[in-house]
Amino acid sequence: MYLYNSASHKKEEFIPNHPELVKMYTCGPTVYHFAHIGNLRSYIMEDVLEKFLRYEGRNVKRVMNITDVGHLSSDADTGEDKMLQGAKREQKSVMDIAAFYTGAFFDDCRKLNIKRPDVVEPATNCIGEYIHIISGLIEKGYAYLSGGNVYFDTSKLDRYYIFNDHDAEDLAVGVREGVEEDANKRNKNDFVLWFTQSKFEDQALKWDSPWGVGYPGWHIECSGISMKHLGEDLDIHCGGIDNAFPHHTNEIAQSEAFLGHKWCNYWMHVLHLNTNSGKMSKSKGEFLTVSLLEEKGYDPLAYRLFCLQSHYRKALVFTWENLDNAQGAYSKLIARIASLKPGDGAVDEAAFQVQKEKFCKAMGNDLNTSLGVTALYDVLKMPSNDETKLALLDSFDQVLSLGLLEKAAARREADANVKTAASGGIVITGEGDPEIDALVLQRAEAKKAKNFAEADRIRDELKARGITVADTREGASWKRD
Ligand code: AMP
Ligand code: ZN
Repeated sequence: MYLYNSASHKKEEFIPNHPELVKMYTCGPTVYHFAHIGNLRSYIMEDVLEKFLRYEGRNVKRVMNITDVGHLSSDADTGEDKMLQGAKREQKSVMDIAAFYTGAFFDDCRKLNIKRPDVVEPATNCIGEYIHIISGLIEKGYAYLSGGNVYFDTSKLDRYYIFNDHDAEDLAVGVREGVEEDANKRNKNDFVLWFTQSKFEDQALKWDSPWGVGYPGWHIECSGISMKHLGEDLDIHCGGIDNAFPHHTNEIAQSEAFLGHKWCNYWMHVLHLNTNSGKMSKSKGEFLTVSLLEEKGYDPLAYRLFCLQSHYRKALVFTWENLDNAQGAYSKLIARIASLKPGDGAVDEAAFQVQKEKFCKAMGNDLNTSLGVTALYDVLKMPSNDETKLALLDSFDQVLSLGLLEKAAARREADANVKTAASGGIVITGEGDPEIDALVLQRAEAKKAKNFAEADRIRDELKARGITVADTREGASWKRD
């Protein structure tokens, strides 16, 4: 496949270091709050990448960290640890906050059909690895002690900026608005590897180290966790675009200085989900979650479709209207698949291969997911039998993960329930809930027997449950408000 590599600023053919195993690393969530749907855009697109690599027949090992220590409120080593902010906000311990929001993150992933990476490692599990790398960096002269902390010395590198060709001064920490300069640093871009002293006193979790009791910086965790599980080289590293600087830039600096050779070959960055008022962010406090979408009646997979309809290297604007359109398209797509008849013949292998090649070509071109989605509609329009179409949709959904066949089967079953609710010539149509079907049928029967008081009583009961009933020529139909 071809993948845009942010490190070379080019689309490149993807060639793993070891043909038998693709090593993939993803920056995981900072678990001090719920993930917002912007964070989840990044995880959806990374999930598609992993699944497409597997679809092409590759073996993938994917590792993700859980940031439960060291990510300060500014990405540039100042402010309070985000985990501590979460603990104070909810008056709980840092570990309770981490456990709760890690669970919530994976609940959201499950609802969005995002596969759990093969290895998920909390940052607090790997203190020994960080100490080992930091000691190596000090030995090699890439790190120094100052004011009680250990810093990486960026002046020792031939090239520090990898992802952008910005003016060093524009990006230098301390120049950016609201970021206080740290007088202990020798160079403005130096970053903390290990804190024993920081700007705030009450860090909750601390560990012993050769440099005193303290805690790791945020960047070292991804280098440490990646090397622990994937060794000294890495094929693909992913994250949202805000991670490119300083986080990924610093990961490369410390990893390559420590290893003495190139570390990661391909960098994939997902552009942000924005609202009309700018980037969606947890620190702003107001953000949209998967649970909120569900409360408003949206299927989380309609949000997944919304993300797949656009390319990961373009910023995506979220509006309710856009989501309504995706939800409408998703329901129609499921309805069309539900109308296909399974088992109407044998799969036409030749037609299957032609469509599969088209799909692979689109997805293999830097994950063109919107063309991948178009491939689903192309299948529905094919002249082949339904069994071939269903086989293709099932196949593409191994990558797109829109729950197409499961949802279509549920829809077929719901339609069958409508028929079971037909009784004595009265036909009830609704949203496929047998209990509601039965109540609506009772009401229709009461009306037919001219027992209007009973019919009204049932209507009120249904209303209280958020159900609206409309009489039809054959009986009644109902829907949720
Ligand atoms: P965090 O939990 O803040 O460490 O972020 C988790 C992931 O979400 C990282 O890969 C971020 O780069 C990514 N991310 C943060 N904000 C957004 C956004 N608005 N849209 C897409 N991805 C984002
Ligand atoms: Zn990371």
